[in-house]
Amino acid sequence: MFTSLSDRLTSTFKNLRTKGRLSEADIDATIREIRRALLDADVAVAVVREFAANVRERALGAEVSGALNPAEQVVKIVNAELVAILGGEARTVRFAKNPPTVIMLAGLQGAGKTTLAGKLAHDLRSKGHTPLLVAADLQRPNAVNQLSVVAERAGVPVFAPHPGVAGEDEVPTGDPVAVARDGVDTARSREHDVVIIDTAGRLGVDAELMQQAADIRDAVTPDEVLFVIDAMIGQDAVLTAQAFLDGVDFTGVVLTKLDGDARGGAALSVAKVTGRPIMFASTGEKLTDFEVFHPDRMASRILD
Ligand code: GDP
Repeated sequence: MFTSLSDRLTSTFKNLRTKGRLSEADIDATIREIRRALLDADVAVAVVREFAANVRERALGAEVSGALNPAEQVVKIVNAELVAILGGEARTVRFAKNPPTVIMLAGLQGAGKTTLAGKLAHDLRSKGHTPLLVAADLQRPNAVNQLSVVAERAGVPVFAPHPGVAGEDEVPTGDPVAVARDGVDTARSREHDVVIIDTAGRLGVDAELMQQAADIRDAVTPDEVLFVIDAMIGQDAVLTAQAFLDGVDFTGVVLTKLDGDARGGAALSVAKVTGRPIMFASTGEKLTDFEVFHPDRMASRILD
């Protein structure tokens, strides 16, 4: 990810280095190139606009202060602005004072929620937690089975509505809200300190899905609602994120498929537009392809 954006910015800064002191025109030309590179990387227009305005203001200020190496100064400013739009500080799960900590996953079908549930459970388990996975995606025929497989790989138990009932082509019956609530009760009685609830996703945003997710949220009052989004969806990321923010609300974002050739727009837009931090990144199909999202490291990767 970010390869083309990174290449574009690198060549922009290379041009800048050939200059001594930067004029306002140099700075404007540079910002035009940065704007174009960000738009081509599918960053939301509003985000690009604000980013460009901030960089310009700070770069002009830096020029006036007579920095010795103006090009480096601009790189530094761009870096700082990238870190800011990516959410600033890294943030991980906030654990509840009274366990279990309830983590609910929401997002479109295929975003990578089930895969992420396993990764998160695996990561938490390796840190001494005792997570329980809850299969509240009763929409997709094979979702419960898929979560069971993921749970087994992660070495954590799973709470499912009708264990063993969901075959390859069977849609499990049951009420996802009740499953989520029972899952949390079960976690409490069996002393699991974390519950991760996988919920249903549709191919597109729809009202029924949102209502179901909101009902689950109301039933279990989660400590964290993680909005899981495929980084490959580009410009659609902002609209989808906004719909989930309005429909369910969420406390953090998980970006998936960062190992693919996404152009990076989703990463650079979602945190800024929603005001929610990107907490984790999913970078492949293996359990261990999972990391805490560090805005500063991501910015450095872009400006490498
Ligand atoms: P869900 O419908 O949101 O539960 O999505 P799934 O967890 O079933 O994931 C959909 C597909 O994306 C599956 O084939 C996963 O193996 C794949 N997948 C999930 N996360 C990643 C990732 O970070 N990288 C890659 N390359 N594939 C992923």
